[in-house]
Amino acid sequence: MAWRERAACRDVDPDLFFPIGTAGLTLVQIEEAKAVCARCPVRERCLQWALDVGQVEGIWGGTTESQRRATRRRSARKDVERIGAKAS
Ligand code: SF4
Repeated sequence: MAWRERAACRDVDPDLFFPIGTAGLTLVQIEEAKAVCARCPVRERCLQWALDVGQVEGIWGGTTESQRRATRRRSARKDVERIGAKAS
């Protein structure tokens, strides 16, 4: 987890990365959090970590919960297709 020492969010209020809700001012908060992630030198590692551990809540690697869920679904679908192709 040494990559966290280089995180752009180290000096930012952690609450920014845990928006409550998905509408109104929360959308502004999400965009502000993503803007911090966009200039983060460890963004990819952060996102991979969040996907690996199944981090459900919060903004990680510039993605929301629902975006990570969609990524996991796509990845699972590809795994199923790959296994199906090997079996046939
Ligand atoms: S990508 Fe975003 S949440 Fe992850 S370490 Fe960087 S600033 Fe923090």
